[in-house]
Amino acid sequence: MQRQLILSRQHWQEMRAHVDRQVPLEACGLLAGHGDRVEHVLLVRNQAQSPVRFVMDPYEQLQAFDWLDAHGLDLVGIFHSHPTGPDMASATDIAEAAYEVVHLIWSYGASEWHVRGFWIEGGRASEVPLQILE
Ligand SMILES: [Zn+2]
Repeated sequence: MQRQLILSRQHWQEMRAHVDRQVPLEACGLLAGHGDRVEHVLLVRNQAQSPVRFVMDPYEQLQAFDWLDAHGLDLVGIFHSHPTGPDMASATDIAEAAYEVVHLIWSYGASEWHVRGFWIEGGRASEVPLQILE
């Protein structure tokens, strides 16, 4: 399990703008980097086009993985949104988690987006603190 994930305010803003644009649908994407450090945000289309579920567009996901290889970066996180909550990994998220990376869940609370990180393993999700560098 990873103990933390470090990202910049710009990465935070890129993800936030993407999840906000896709409302009312869930949005998703990948985080590239090394270890616990995010270096780049990759936006991926939600093929499911659903407000309650996401499926990464397989072609865009493949392109994103090629981009990681070409830039010598690893997959360090996956993010998606819950436009109508909850602010944690759902049973579906836990069941479908396919990569051992930090899963970031964006949820819309009373009036603003917020994001939490989770490590999903063995059928459960544990919170991973996110450090946002200003
Ligand atoms: Zn979810």
